[in-house]
Amino acid sequence: MPSHIYDTIIIGAGGMGSAATYHLAKTGANILTLEQFQRGHTLGSSHGEARIIRFFYDKPFYTELMKTAYAEWRDLENVSGKQMLFITGSVNLGEKGNEYGESVRKSLDTKHVEYEVWDKTQLKERFPQFQVTDEMEIIWQKDTGFLYASECVSTYLKLAENLGATIRENTPVIRIDWEADIPTVLTEDNQFHARKVIVTAGAWTSYLLKDLELPLTVTKQQVCYYNPIDKLAFHPDRFPVFTEITCDDEFMYGMPYFGENGVKVARHGKGKTISPDSSDRLPDSDYIRYMDNYITSRIPELGRTNHAEVCLYTETPDEDFIIDTHPHCPDLYIAAGFSGHGFKFCSLVGKIMCELALTGESVFDISHFRIDRPKTSEGTFLRLYPKNIN
Ligand SMILES: Cc1cc2nc3c(=O)[nH]c(=O)nc-3n(C[C@H](O)[C@H](O)[C@H](O)COP(=O)(O)OP(=O)(O)OC[C@H]3O[C@@H](n4cnc5c(N)ncnc54)[C@H](O)[C@@H]3O)c2cc1C
Repeated sequence: MPSHIYDTIIIGAGGMGSAATYHLAKTGANILTLEQFQRGHTLGSSHGEARIIRFFYDKPFYTELMKTAYAEWRDLENVSGKQMLFITGSVNLGEKGNEYGESVRKSLDTKHVEYEVWDKTQLKERFPQFQVTDEMEIIWQKDTGFLYASECVSTYLKLAENLGATIRENTPVIRIDWEADIPTVLTEDNQFHARKVIVTAGAWTSYLLKDLELPLTVTKQQVCYYNPIDKLAFHPDRFPVFTEITCDDEFMYGMPYFGENGVKVARHGKGKTISPDSSDRLPDSDYIRYMDNYITSRIPELGRTNHAEVCLYTETPDEDFIIDTHPHCPDLYIAAGFSGHGFKFCSLVGKIMCELALTGESVFDISHFRIDRPKTSEGTFLRLYPKNIN
């Protein structure tokens, strides 16, 4: 038998891995978390200052899961004494009668989440920063806000360390030997043993779990930051999170002025497929031009892009997550494919991964995230609902 056996090894210390590390460390378990880069690096999916948090989903199961996710973020704030969650409410725009808006309203009704349908005058009175037409549908949802993303990740890791977890940075995992007597995690210089292993490797998941051939696609995503002359008009007290489905079926989103870079605005999805190790990390000028044209018509006071950044999505074909036990190894758990809308769920996914490692089950409904959910003839998951937005 190996000389040391951890209770659980977690591979990847991004949003999901840091939350799982914290939840497991809280149980007193002996935890090792391995991260290929330094903590807080900017090459994955969880860096940067802000991520939207919302109940506003067209799929009711996400709206339901968000109830616990919000509570868990509040818990992290209480334990750490730091503010992570900034509630601003959200303005959600679309063409009148658009299908997505209808599905969202249905989902919120089913889960008893309040919202208001506004007209153009109401929007102008509350948020004069927006320019909209009479043909637009405007939904206001008061509970939406944003999370201070990089702080969430670093706080989870710090708290977990205080509870005794070991976090090794700059330690890439090369292979998991799940067929050994006890699951073994191999790095260049070492091998580590654990009763349970959790893979939260984001865009690199398919490298570690090659034989599963998970339908994951990594895409290059870009965000633009605006630095308006009147910054106060875009402060979180005066400007909300917003989303829009344009008449060309583009998904746009933005949030208030926060942190060093300013007002963040982006187009969800539609990124080009890249390798997570690609050096293609520079923003594209045609994307910036597209965003600036959009901003000129919708929120002209923002001016032009001041700064742009690149980030990765790891997408499943139906944009639903993968949270499951490895089909051939009952001691190996996977959380991946967060498809550009996962950050708000980190607090809950961490709790779920902890439950799985401890009992092999979760009290939450994760049936939608099974690896063996319905597939098309091409072997990919079916897209059962309209597109998600983050
Ligand atoms: C531009 C952009 C905007 C977004 N906006 C939102 C939003 O508004 N709201 C929202 O809810 N979500 C949003 N998301 C999505 C959200 O950020 C992601 O779903 C989430 O961060 C994914 O977390 P993760 O832990 O799976 O991946 P990551 O945070 O990338 O973590 C994976 C970690 O595993 C490590 N790793 C990988 N392989 C190995 C290995 N072999 N050995 C050791 N370590 C390894 C990586 O280095 C990395 O640190 C956005 C994403 C992007 C890119």
